[in-house]
Amino acid sequence: MSEPLDLPSLWSHEPHSLLRFTPGDLVADIDPDATPGFRGVKSDAPTLQEERNVRFAELQEMLYARSRVDDTRSVLLVLQGMDTAGKGGIVKHVVGGCNPQGVDYFNFGKPTPEELSHHFLWRIRKALPRPGHIGVFDRSHYEDVLIVRVHNLVPPAVWEPRYDEINAFERELVESGTSLVKVAMFVSLDEQKKRLAERLERPDKYWKYNPGDIDERLKWPLYQEAYQAMLDRTSTEYAPWHVVPCNRKWYSRLAVTELMIEALKQLNMSWPPPDFDVEAEKKRLKKA
Ligand code: AMP
Ligand code: MG
Repeated sequence: MSEPLDLPSLWSHEPHSLLRFTPGDLVADIDPDATPGFRGVKSDAPTLQEERNVRFAELQEMLYARSRVDDTRSVLLVLQGMDTAGKGGIVKHVVGGCNPQGVDYFNFGKPTPEELSHHFLWRIRKALPRPGHIGVFDRSHYEDVLIVRVHNLVPPAVWEPRYDEINAFERELVESGTSLVKVAMFVSLDEQKKRLAERLERPDKYWKYNPGDIDERLKWPLYQEAYQAMLDRTSTEYAPWHVVPCNRKWYSRLAVTELMIEALKQLNMSWPPPDFDVEAEKKRLKKA
């Protein structure tokens, strides 16, 4: 494992500290075009992405390997963002570099009648990553304070206490060994229009288009408010939010890769030691 790669020279600051949401930060001040901390250029991205995907995959394999012994920890990537922010691209280009054996992916759409009959965290708990796995939430329990709040799907008396419930839930997760990497992805209104237009131009992208995306788009200011409240109230010490500008897909992918690498490094892992006598096994194998 090549340690020097952990300080890729193209970053002036580590994304995990630079992108971390600090209470008081304003959603209105986020520049989705920005590339905070990155001092390279777009053409550096493919090579760097490839290199860092290798590092990410090595760490993920180590997490998985340790779970075969006795380490039950896991890492959960939570992706939230408006349509076209690039959640699917993160899944494909960042998580896609990992061995699928060790990844538990879930996409949270509109709840089914059964899901709606339960507490909002019911379906979330069922989807938590297994020990040694990287969990990916493509949308999450945060929809229950975003679209639900914006559309008044339940009264404020119901969604309002959810921020505290989410914090308590996440604290419980962290205490039981699941590190959270929460990523709020920000695309601009203009860029979203371009991306939606592209979906309408290309037959290979129709499947991603949903007429409802325009209805959500029309509620942009309400979503900005809901995102602000979400960040203010659920960016905790144990499970902070990271704000990732997403107009440049190459940047957002590099940034999320670094966030995942950092979360895995924080686990201070090493390869599990053998539970057999290596020399004795070598001798046995020679004769076998
Ligand atoms: P997509 O991720 O593009 O497949 O879209 C899924 C849709 O389901 C989005 O419009 C989400 O806002 C919506 N959705 C996800 N979770 C919930 C929820 N808890 N309540 C209502 N709508 C939701
Ligand atoms: Mg969609």
